[in-house]
Amino acid sequence: MTAEPDFRLRALPAVDDVLKQDAATLAIARFGRPAVVKAVRQALEAARDALRAGKPQSSRPDAIASAALATLTAEARSNLRPVFNLTGTVLHTNLGRALLAEAAVEAAVAAMRSAVALEFDLATGKRGERDDHLRGLLGEFSGAEDATVVNNNAAAVLLTLNTLAKGREAVVSRGELIEIGGAFRMPDIMARAGARLKEIGTTNRTHYKDYAEAIGPKTGLVLKVHTSNYRIAGFTKEVGAHELAALTRERGVPLVHDLGSGTLVDLAGWGLAHEPTVAETIADGADIVTFSGDKLLGGPQAGFIVGRKDLIAKINRNPMKRALRIDKIRLAALAATLRLYRNPDALADELPTIRLLARPQLAIKAMAHRLLPIVAAKLGARFNVEVIACASQIGSGALPLETIPSAGLAIRPRTARGAGRSLDRLAAAFRRLPVPVIGRLEDGAQILDLRCLEDEAAFAANFAALDLGDDHGVT
Ligand SMILES: *Cc1c(COP(=O)(O)O)cnc(C)c1O
Repeated sequence: MTAEPDFRLRALPAVDDVLKQDAATLAIARFGRPAVVKAVRQALEAARDALRAGKPQSSRPDAIASAALATLTAEARSNLRPVFNLTGTVLHTNLGRALLAEAAVEAAVAAMRSAVALEFDLATGKRGERDDHLRGLLGEFSGAEDATVVNNNAAAVLLTLNTLAKGREAVVSRGELIEIGGAFRMPDIMARAGARLKEIGTTNRTHYKDYAEAIGPKTGLVLKVHTSNYRIAGFTKEVGAHELAALTRERGVPLVHDLGSGTLVDLAGWGLAHEPTVAETIADGADIVTFSGDKLLGGPQAGFIVGRKDLIAKINRNPMKRALRIDKIRLAALAATLRLYRNPDALADELPTIRLLARPQLAIKAMAHRLLPIVAAKLGARFNVEVIACASQIGSGALPLETIPSAGLAIRPRTARGAGRSLDRLAAAFRRLPVPVIGRLEDGAQILDLRCLEDEAAFAANFAALDLGDDHGVT
């Protein structure tokens, strides 16, 4: 047993021999010599390990060269790959949230390829302002006097707090001290912004008099936060935006409303629950409203700050603004996205976020029935596949308790023994597809919610490449 591996180890080729193979020549042309030499050394090392472990392994130079080429090709593929989002969450933060409208994609590509009049006024030939590209559009849809834009809504909240409440108190209800996931916790953001958090009321009830008593000479602002990802129900009390605005106006302190997702249009028009719009929030008397670009609005990642002209001017004078601003590519995509709102009737066609949210269950179900035989045939006898009704979510904290009736495929192993492991391996095989398919595990099934699947043919072609791995004995 000991002599044989030694003998076989000596049969492995030298690096130079491997580099003479056709696959290595191809690899050198594509990836450069240093990378190929490194990959060949690694392939030889792996072969040595396999032989020592008594595993089958070819010692032929062309096999080693092919292994090195395969590794380099796999490494060259971006990890930021397109996937099929069949999770049922339309605005999935981990899958990049909103898909951009074609008009936004075109505008972004044009801005990437060319110099643009980013901070240049074409009418006068003088220096212009980056924000001018969005000011008018945002004013048009929100009714706000002025607007600016930064990297994301977290940045919008940070910048607003730092500008208006640094070294001062920010008054906020205990029922609104949210954590949104990741490291975005309102009390921490306050601390980073240099504002002193003044919590008022209780988790479930905050009264008008709590605000009235808390506002004093040290108050920088009053903050209202849209409770994006939870809802407090039961014995509750919250002071309405209108009433609160009357109080803050009388006391001369700004009322800032972090809307989170923020929408420019009433979603009820597409059969979804009503979410307060930016215009309604401004009309209710908020002095500043902050919201995201890539949630319900359907654009690229960005954070909007809209509201009173004097306050926006102050925000723009904060040196932090320079560190949080966005680039020409996103600016172009945002402006193109916002322009679509000029024709609300066409939004369900043009804006993927609204289009996907508005897709009727019946149409999704029909697609599920068409895909069922394709998926079932590929999965074989070990899995049972059926069309199911399911519930999609908007995601990213918008309308947290609302679900949208949807449809999809439920895939279950036919035998209960080892079902959990079998489902995990199935999910892994889906992730290995040329375009990885991401579903969700629920009730002992792999669920593919088809709400966000639009290109049925592409899905079918991709699915044909599914390799469950078992005929190679791979685990
Ligand atoms: C999502 C959200 C944020 C953070 O917005 P990003 O654009 O992800 O930075 C802040 N506040 C609320 C209420 C939110 O829902």
